[in-house]
Amino acid sequence: MSELRLVNLVKKFDGAAAVDGLSLDVSSGEFVVILGPSGCGKTTTLRCVAGLEVPDEGEIMIDNDSVSGLPPRERDIAMVFQNYALYPHMTVAENIAYPLKMKKTAKDEIERRVKEIGELLGLSHLLGRKPRQLSGGEQQRVALGRAIVRRPKVFLLDEPLSNLDAKLRLFTRAELKRLQRELRVTTVYVTHDQAEAMALADRVAVMNNGKLLQYAPPTEIYGRPNTVFVAGFIGNPPMNLIRARLTVDRELVRVSSDCFNFELSEGLAKNVKNLNEKEVLVGLRAEDLAISEARSDESVFQADLYLVEHLGANVMLDLKANQSLLKCVASNAIEARAGAKVWVGFDQSQLHLFDVKTEEALV
Ligand code: ATP
Repeated sequence: MSELRLVNLVKKFDGAAAVDGLSLDVSSGEFVVILGPSGCGKTTTLRCVAGLEVPDEGEIMIDNDSVSGLPPRERDIAMVFQNYALYPHMTVAENIAYPLKMKKTAKDEIERRVKEIGELLGLSHLLGRKPRQLSGGEQQRVALGRAIVRRPKVFLLDEPLSNLDAKLRLFTRAELKRLQRELRVTTVYVTHDQAEAMALADRVAVMNNGKLLQYAPPTEIYGRPNTVFVAGFIGNPPMNLIRARLTVDRELVRVSSDCFNFELSEGLAKNVKNLNEKEVLVGLRAEDLAISEARSDESVFQADLYLVEHLGANVMLDLKANQSLLKCVASNAIEARAGAKVWVGFDQSQLHLFDVKTEEALV
């Protein structure tokens, strides 16, 4: 098990920074997912770690030793890409054995390790087949097997599930998590799929424009997003964001917008009592909004229900409160019809507040 450390990594292409001062510590045996939109620098980061790109600045350390000057094959890192790139003329067993053969491992040791990997990945019955005789999911498992067979210090995965259909993706995702748990190999996994990141990661590193925005366990990223960007990127549907203004009168803070006007709870108010007249974004997740029959307290506001979508166990409600458009996920037991007027409430402990200008969290 090994520890990976990126220190102030910068990689520029034609003068523009694809990775812009990225620092990241990955503990020994940890599963870290780098999450961000297309073009934010995820793949470039992985390629720098693997030694396929040379960073312009910064340091890459494995177990406190710099690997920045080492060629890829001397870094003891394995990488799996989106396209599995199996050798088509070799059998599954030969594909998995290949890295060991290159290392001139003894034949009986190779046989033992291929058998072990076959069992671990449920490929034992397929070892004699060629890649074209396998399904996409099976091919992906062979690619994983080939990458881990030589027990690398660090395992890098770049969107490895994106060629699989939705069902197989879910299944392979769970398999991958189990495999990583069992092997305890230090893993960095890249994706733009927030659900995948939340499901797999011990910690999620959210990137945008080459920069690291937040690095924390999934529950913290979801529950306490530090910026508007992270709040909007994590969760499906994205968090509702409502433009509002704070008005402070001594210890009391009011939040007013075109759909609500209420006094902030004491716990939240103490963090923003110096911010009179501050323009803010109030963040509320769709599942934290509740439809009520009547106006039970002053933060409850009225909205037009203009669309009801059935999701199976739940319903998604599209609401319009003055100019604000909101999404609410509710139990499908709710008796709501499009066209109705409804009351919408929330618990202040679920409320997020962001500065409109800096887009950073205020509470
Ligand atoms: P995706 O999810 O689409 O794969 P990503 O987050 O992995 O995106 P990168 O592939 O790391 O993003 O690219 C980051 C930025 O660097 C992009 O603007 C991309 O166009 C640019 N870039 C990447 N590789 C090169 C290259 N070899 N030459 C020039 N620009 C590049």
